[in-house]
Amino acid sequence: MDKGTGALKSRAATRKIIAALSTQYPDATTELHYRNAFQLLVATILSAQSTDAGVNQVTPALFARYPDARALSGADLGDLQQMIVSTGFFRQKSKALVGMAQALVDEHNGEVPANMEQLTELPGVGRKTANVVLGHALGVPGFPVDRHVLRVSGRLGISSGDDPVKVEAQLCTALPKAIWTQSSDTLILHGRRVCRPKPLCERCVARSLCEYYRVVTAAPSRQPRHVTRRVRTPRR
Ligand code: SF4
Repeated sequence: MDKGTGALKSRAATRKIIAALSTQYPDATTELHYRNAFQLLVATILSAQSTDAGVNQVTPALFARYPDARALSGADLGDLQQMIVSTGFFRQKSKALVGMAQALVDEHNGEVPANMEQLTELPGVGRKTANVVLGHALGVPGFPVDRHVLRVSGRLGISSGDDPVKVEAQLCTALPKAIWTQSSDTLILHGRRVCRPKPLCERCVARSLCEYYRVVTAAPSRQPRHVTRRVRTPRR
């Protein structure tokens, strides 16, 4: 992953950077379509190694057929696989979805728990997925860290390292709880649209505050090759 070279920025600087980026994405939120916590949990599990747009194409029919955990817990795996095949890794995802739904029925009366520990005990649910659901559908602030958040926050110098759990802790420490979820959404959108693996810095409102940009402009001869190092993909 491309990184800035400076030390981790202060909390004040981190807040300033997020505030600047928020002007570029004032309505940042998840791009997954959902109506309740169960639907968002399903959509987020499906989004692993897929695009949100791709997931949004399959979920209307999926939610119509399996409107809640009880319905999904009894799904035929073959039928389910056919419905989600276009999202990739459909065999693993089908098992995860049915296992997750069965656990919701068996242990939570069919409801999605508003609790990180209980969410991450569900099959197919990692810390990132749990934070997405908690922050967007259950009113519990969370800071999902995906590959975009890792890349963008690292370049900006507001996080260090490639460990999603440590980066989540760094960003949560620096930012008020009330804006955790939207800050994550902002960094994700910025990573998708502007701060891509090959960044479009001329379109970035935060470039005067960016560690990576400072290094590039200060030492053009040392310009990074825009090669993205492999990073650990956080469990979703
Ligand atoms: S200036 Fe460039 S590298 Fe820095 S955050 Fe913006 S797009 Fe990313």
